[in-house]
Formats: sequence, C-alpha cells, structure tokens
Amino acid sequence: MDYERFFSDRLAGLRNDGRYRVFADLERHAGDFPRASHHAGGRVEDVTVWCSNDYLGMGQHPGVVAAMHEALDKVGAGAGGTRNISGTSHYHVLLEEELADLHRTEASLLFTSGYVANEATLGTLGQTLPGCVIVSDADNHASMIAGIRYSRAEKKIFRHNDVEHLDRLLGECDPDASKIVAFESLYSMDGDFAPVAEICDVAERHGAMTYLDEVHAVGLYGERGAGVAERDGVMDRIDIVQGTLAKAFGVVGGYIAGSAAMVDFIRSHASGFIFTSSLPPAIAAGARASIRHVKSADTLRERHQERARALKVRLREARLPLMPSPSHIVPVFVGDPVRCKQVTDALMDRHGIYVQPINYPTVPKGTERLRLTPTPLHDDAAMDRLVAALQDVWSQLDLKFAA
Ligand SMILES: *Cc1c(COP(=O)(O)O)cnc(C)c1O
Repeated sequence: MDYERFFSDRLAGLRNDGRYRVFADLERHAGDFPRASHHAGGRVEDVTVWCSNDYLGMGQHPGVVAAMHEALDKVGAGAGGTRNISGTSHYHVLLEEELADLHRTEASLLFTSGYVANEATLGTLGQTLPGCVIVSDADNHASMIAGIRYSRAEKKIFRHNDVEHLDRLLGECDPDASKIVAFESLYSMDGDFAPVAEICDVAERHGAMTYLDEVHAVGLYGERGAGVAERDGVMDRIDIVQGTLAKAFGVVGGYIAGSAAMVDFIRSHASGFIFTSSLPPAIAAGARASIRHVKSADTLRERHQERARALKVRLREARLPLMPSPSHIVPVFVGDPVRCKQVTDALMDRHGIYVQPINYPTVPKGTERLRLTPTPLHDDAAMDRLVAALQDVWSQLDLKFAA
C-alpha cells in the first residue's frame, strides 16, 4: 500500500469536486469585531467577518476577557488533569451551577466541547439504557450521529421535523424498551426551528426521553437566553438539554443539563467525560461571565434579531437568492460547490469580506450556499457594503438572481 499516494489522490478528488476546504488565516480584533486581519500569500489585509458563530460578539466582551485574565493570573493556565484527578476547580463548579440555573435544571455537566457532550452523552445512554432505541431527526448534527453510532443502540431516523413520522417510528418500538428522541431546536444550515412542543407531546405519549441540542439557540432565544425551549415555554419537558459555550457565549466548551440523577449517571459512566482533562479554569471563568451577562441582555438579543431581519430585507431588495429562514441564520443559495467557492474567493479578494462556502457533506449536494450570520455589531454601513459586494460578484460570475 502506497499510503502517501492514497492521501494525495483522495485530496485531488476533493479539489476536483470543489469541496477541498481552505481555512482562512485570521486574527480577530478585540474591540473592533467583526473586523479581522487576513493573512494570505505573505500579505495581511483587513476584512469583515460575516460567518462567525460568535453570534453576539461575546468572544471580545470586556467582562469576559477580564474574567479570563483574572482567573489566568490567579490559578494559572491548565486545569491539571481530568475532573476526577485534580482537574476540578472552583471555576468549573461555579460554571455548572450557572448552567443549571440558566436551564432551570437540577444539575449540569461540562465537557471539552459541544461535540464531545453529544457524542459522550448519547453514546453512554444508548449503551446503558436497557434495549434502548434512539429516534433521531434526519438533519441532526454529526456529533449526535457519532454518539448514536458509538452507542451501538438501535437507531431510527425520522424525516426532518416530521412529527407524524416520529410518532409512527416510536409506535413501532417495543413499548417497554427505553427510547430517546434526539433533535435540535434550531438547525444551523437552513436556520429553521423544530416544533419542540409537538415533539415533546409525541415523546411523552410513547414514554421516550427527549434529548435537545440547543447549540445554535442558547444565549439567543428565550427570556434569559436559555434557548428555544425557554422561548416556547417547554423547558420543563426536555429531559436532557445540550449546549455549547463556543457560539453565542463566545468561549469554548460544551455541556448537558437535566435531572441530578441523570447528570450524575453521565458523570459516572461517560468515557468522553471521565478520561480527558478538563477545560482550563480561565475558560470556565470566561464562559460564566458571558452567560451571566447574556442572561439579562435582552436588548442585545433583540438587536441580534433586528440585524438578521434588516439583512434579509436588503438581500431580498437586491434580488439575491435568500433561502427562507425564520431565525438569525441567513442562508444564500448558490447550488454548486465550485461556484460557491468562486463567490467566497471573489468576496474576499475583491471586497475584503469573509464568508466561508458551505458545501457537502455539511449540506446536501446541489444546495451549496453562503451562510451569513449578522451580529449586533454588523451595522447598516457594513450591510450595505456586503449587499453591494454580493451583487457585484453575482453579476461578475453570471449567477442567477431571484425573480
Ligand atoms: C457546532 C455544533 C455542535 C458542537 O459544538 P462545539 O462546542 O462547537 O463542539 C453541536 N451541535 C450542533 C448542532 C452544532 O452546530
């Protein structure tokens, strides 16, 4: 076997498909978000970032940065081990209390990322609950799919947001078997919401647990930013809520929240929690400061929604092919991976605008798109520049405008 040849042939295949991923080498400017310096070919240029999941700009919030500095100076860089072996700091404990308070649950548990939280929790539950069947939305994130696979539990997939199909699949399960309905509240590529209350109704009827990924909603929806379940008044019907500290909260890390017994069970059994060193205390301190700020930041949440609406209006007026989305995520249709990359290259090279192309396998083939994420810090002038740049690139590349 010629291993090197194998790797380079496969990479050539990705390049041919237009799916080869190129990372933009950026330095963000704290205090000047969403501006950043872009390093390319020995040059450094100023760009505006239009695709960050730091949805509220909390990654540069002075209170968050100060909390991280303070913790770093007080206790040093790393946690020093796994949570079991000397890696639990007071900052971890306080953050878990804060998360339980946010979601109004008895307890919460931190992981090194949202990905690990999903993989470890679903993996552990699917492995340990007797006869477990996991019923999973067709559009669920790769990290949930990884957890379900790892668990080796029986898996059934319901059509995206199709409550009747979910009901039918649950009806086919042994009534005595344990069952988990795994879904997201806000799907981040189309920007659509799940019918959370209806899914809870169906799950309850069949005696299934509900597992809800609120990664793209925490900080952003609900009275205190606990997510879509809070907005919809159904927080108490979610058995396990999962979230991230890396998107709207602007730092890094993942978590689950729920009953004390469930959380203690995962803490005691999940390999992906037990056998890895915990997050640095400074990260926990920054995340806690961010959550505490965002909890009462109604005006920030309102401004975030207003900015998304304002961008959608401008895109529609410019006849750019906006995909329908009721949320803060603003997808623009391209429909071809090579064209998609050409669009984003032209935006970067000619207009100093950074948007990452979204290609297969993140979205289905033929639905390649731009995914714009306006934040409260993208002002009208920045929007006007973006829309003018998109119009220019659309004409230049002879792409289709909306009717
Ligand atoms: C980003 C993402 C995750 C993973 O969260 P990280 O904290 O970035 O690891 C999980 N679920 C969904 C739906 C995501 O988009």
